[in-house]
Amino acid sequence: MIYYKVQPSSPKAHLFSVELRVTQPAPDGVTLFLPAWIPGSYMIRDFAKNIVTLTASCEGHEVAVEKCDKQSWQCAPCRGVLVISYTVYAWDLSVRSAHLDTTHGYFNGTSLFLSVVGRAAQPCSVEILPPEGEAYSDWMIATTLATAAEREPLSFGRFSAANYNELIDHPVEMGLFTHASFDVRGVMHEIAITGRHSADIERLCRDLKPICETHIDLFGELPVMESYLFQVMAVGDGYGGLEHNSSTSLICKRDDLPAQGVTEVTDGYRQFLGLCSHEYFHLWNVKRIRPRIFQQADLSKEVYTRLLWLFEGVTSYYDDLALLRSGRIDADSYMELLAQVITRVIRGNGRRKQTVSESSFDAWTKFYKQDENAPNAIVSYYSKGSLVALALDLTIRHESDGRYSLDDVMRALWLRHGVTDIGIGEDEVEAVIEDVTGVDCAGLLSLALDTTEDLPLEELFESVGIGFRLRVARNPLDNGGVKKEAGKKEMLLRVPGARYRTHPLGVELAQVFDDGAAQLAGLSAGDVILAVDGIRSTEKSFAKQMGASEESDIRVIHAFRRDELMTFNLSPQSPPIDTCDLWLEKSAGSQQINCRFDWLRVSTTDV
Ligand code: ZN
Repeated sequence: MIYYKVQPSSPKAHLFSVELRVTQPAPDGVTLFLPAWIPGSYMIRDFAKNIVTLTASCEGHEVAVEKCDKQSWQCAPCRGVLVISYTVYAWDLSVRSAHLDTTHGYFNGTSLFLSVVGRAAQPCSVEILPPEGEAYSDWMIATTLATAAEREPLSFGRFSAANYNELIDHPVEMGLFTHASFDVRGVMHEIAITGRHSADIERLCRDLKPICETHIDLFGELPVMESYLFQVMAVGDGYGGLEHNSSTSLICKRDDLPAQGVTEVTDGYRQFLGLCSHEYFHLWNVKRIRPRIFQQADLSKEVYTRLLWLFEGVTSYYDDLALLRSGRIDADSYMELLAQVITRVIRGNGRRKQTVSESSFDAWTKFYKQDENAPNAIVSYYSKGSLVALALDLTIRHESDGRYSLDDVMRALWLRHGVTDIGIGEDEVEAVIEDVTGVDCAGLLSLALDTTEDLPLEELFESVGIGFRLRVARNPLDNGGVKKEAGKKEMLLRVPGARYRTHPLGVELAQVFDDGAAQLAGLSAGDVILAVDGIRSTEKSFAKQMGASEESDIRVIHAFRRDELMTFNLSPQSPPIDTCDLWLEKSAGSQQINCRFDWLRVSTTDV
């Protein structure tokens, strides 16, 4: 058994104190290490850099500790119980690490729990204490770590884990949060919302339950767990989630949560429900159905797989589909979401340079470390991966005359690889699809995963009575979908050849697309455009200035590159046809309508 004790020792200095007790230390000394990355987020983050102080003692005597590399320590041999005491700086408000101030504390085990090399398989015991002082006497704790002893709900105390990997897969939130619970198929589901907000938590419970049930029905059962926790951090601006063994950590805009007394599904709330749906689907897909290489993943360095299209792409496909199938949104709203994904993929020239397999493999350095050239260089295994899932689903439905679908494949993957915990090899999915459905998807998979060709979406949509059209964007905020006006403003706006944002001096180019008008004129990301043809540019006027040109016109652009004023001659281009609309086809035949019903699970005949 490995013993840990965690306490926020100084909320104002953002410091957690951790004590680690190792009984019967190895005769040649104990080596400790902290992970460099957190499962589910494929980037080296070097969490050990946040360890501020570290000392060791044994039976009252100091033990020498030597740092071996950026993330590991060697303690000198000793007889008795080795105690390592360390402090961890926690000031990263994300779902991936740790955060502590006087309002709350949050941590992932990967940020706080040193691993004892050679003893990762041993059970762990963790005592978690609130900060000292009257100001923190009301603090509660929310986590799905198993409780070691009798514990009042939401109270601090002693927790346990079967081994180190389990220990780091149950993030912990502490403070004064809003809390509610609901039952899903006999298992308690909780939601804890931290941060200032005025959300209708009862409505959240009512909406989350059918989404959870939709996923459970797809896989046939809920994985075995005591309870499930949606851990939400509400902030002014933020978005993200990370999946765990029996919980998820989410960060969202407080305005995306449903307001009291409001019944409509706003675009922001739809996005939040989609995020919850996404992370819940991961309970099966990636937490239990896993690439073989993730099973005993080395947390000290990158672990490479080409399968993230399956784990993130398929999950991204089902997250929004479950909103429709569970009745949270209607078919038109789902068509809009799907059209926006297609638009996002089409607008990236990087899809012509990188395959989805490569995107997955290089996630560590490319997808997770995107720079201004990302649209020209990479494709997302989330968004294109979800279109691959869509194409697979519609192909299986069509080729099997409606007898099978991707749902059957996912259920088989759960039974063969999830329940059994047999990891999936890099090339095994194709055979499972053919075995389960009788449909040979080898050609489609190789086109979709290993080439940069576009997917045959238009003809697949026709088979289920969905209309498909590509058109020119109507305005800088048009991200696709038939809805006339975009629901909310994004930070980046668009003109042919570039994305831009407002700047005190004019507009700043954020991304410049390959072979677009801006790049051909010599403009670069970071350039601040002051004027077009001598007229001042602002966020409001810029699209008009660029759009109003005749194609033959040459536009004179004045822009700062760093502190140097430069002049560029820009030949405007026609706006690209890169915006997608989808709709339920009214004139679809009965066979198509039946297929559509089987797919979407909602009656779509009355359109
Ligand atoms: Zn995901």
